[in-house]
Amino acid sequence: MQENATNIIELKHITKTYEDGFTAVSDFNLEVKRGEFVTFLGPSGCGKTTTLRMIAGFDLPTEGEILLNGKNITNLPPNKRPINTVFQRYALFPHMNIYDNIAFGLKLKKMDRSVITKKVKKVLDLVDLEGFENRSVSTLSGGQQQRVAIARALVNEPEILLLDEPLGALDLKMRKEMQLELKAMHDELGITFIYVTHDQEEALTMSDKIVVMSEGKMQQIGTPEDIYNEPKNAFVADFIGESNIFNGIMTGHRKVRFCGGEFDCVDDWKEGTHITAVVRPEDVILTPPEKGTIRGVVSSVIFKGMHYEITVESGKNEMVIQTVHSAKVGDVTGMRVDPDNIHVMLADDNTNIFPADINRSYRLEYNGKVLDTSLTRIIKGSRRLEDGTLVDANGELIDPRRNKVIVSIEPQDITMTDQMEDGLVQGCISNLIYKGDHYSYVIHTDIEQDFVVDDEYLWNMGDRVGLLMPVEKMKFRLKR
Ligand code: ADP
Ligand code: MG
Repeated sequence: MQENATNIIELKHITKTYEDGFTAVSDFNLEVKRGEFVTFLGPSGCGKTTTLRMIAGFDLPTEGEILLNGKNITNLPPNKRPINTVFQRYALFPHMNIYDNIAFGLKLKKMDRSVITKKVKKVLDLVDLEGFENRSVSTLSGGQQQRVAIARALVNEPEILLLDEPLGALDLKMRKEMQLELKAMHDELGITFIYVTHDQEEALTMSDKIVVMSEGKMQQIGTPEDIYNEPKNAFVADFIGESNIFNGIMTGHRKVRFCGGEFDCVDDWKEGTHITAVVRPEDVILTPPEKGTIRGVVSSVIFKGMHYEITVESGKNEMVIQTVHSAKVGDVTGMRVDPDNIHVMLADDNTNIFPADINRSYRLEYNGKVLDTSLTRIIKGSRRLEDGTLVDANGELIDPRRNKVIVSIEPQDITMTDQMEDGLVQGCISNLIYKGDHYSYVIHTDIEQDFVVDDEYLWNMGDRVGLLMPVEKMKFRLKR
């Protein structure tokens, strides 16, 4: 195990299937170096807590191995692992004072009283609660309670500290403060932190390494810079920071079409390849209308303190732009993007991705048509409040004006029809490739979005078709 000497934890092909048959984590592989700050980042329900619980030993994987310092600990009980966990809910004992809360585990281990007192004092100093020993839990603020919870985990001097959305219950200001303090604590202690959050900004600020997860699978692993600058797929690009994401197609040597225009780019896939293009809002340059690669009409301008966030509608596409220059709603403007700021990725297995609007009665709409499904069904953990508004699993309000739902559907689940008006969208076949047992078509739609459709029958280039998309084949994700 010499070559792995610096890996404190290794997860090898970890899969967790619950008794009800649901697979929450699948074939998860990870190496964590001693002293690293690693963050699991992903939307609610993607398997972060499940993974953490297996590292802590509270849950056993259905398949795979967990190694600690090169030794297999897959079946070792939690209390035999040099690992402690801090949860989102502080889980303090309300009837005990701070000292007893922190000393609880050490007393169970029958440690010497004077040693315990010293250790408690040391961790209280560390979390900035010097002299709080005799205070009762109920007199502490949320932030202070969470510090006690952290102190209680650290007093065991674990090799690894697991933190499961530890700041989730704090208000924004407190959360920002604690982020910095936790980072400082990590640097001071030199122990390994494995941190869980659904907040991308938190992950980017704190981590040495980020593991982006979706639906039980690792999507990308890398430094915050890697993940921000070189997202591996549309999910990561979309989840990390504001992005404009378009379906598109390669139209020639380093030329790509999306959002109704043909752009120069630095990636070179074969002509006709279906791609996903990602453009960060800060990389779009506004130009006079005739100088842009594409043009559009300004539909909103929001002042954000350091910059303006401007939304431009170009055909049926929307481009969000961050700039220090203001603009007026209704202005016609050109837009261009430097070639190396256009991130062209092979579309994930050609999955079609498109944004649907949430209308005022909380129904999903695309291309002016209502999709036959309900938001509470497709957004995991969402629920209606008494006043009729909708909140997500974290209790955050879902705002029809600001939030969208990202829909994905596979090429084989879309059917082409010549009964145009039956389709969710309409367009012309702009590319076709024979794939051995079926044809793969690209349909350039009237709303300037390209869709990939698999069909065993031969249609012709230029044929006008409607696209039938069954709601039960769609996957949905809330975009804030
Ligand atoms: P996260 O922490 O990323 O929000 P979790 O790891 O808690 O996600 O859950 C991942 C998925 O596994 C969710 O869909 C959740 O409903 C499911 N899940 C969690 N615990 C159980 C369980 N004991 N039995 C069945 N499904 C579970
Ligand atoms: Mg969780």
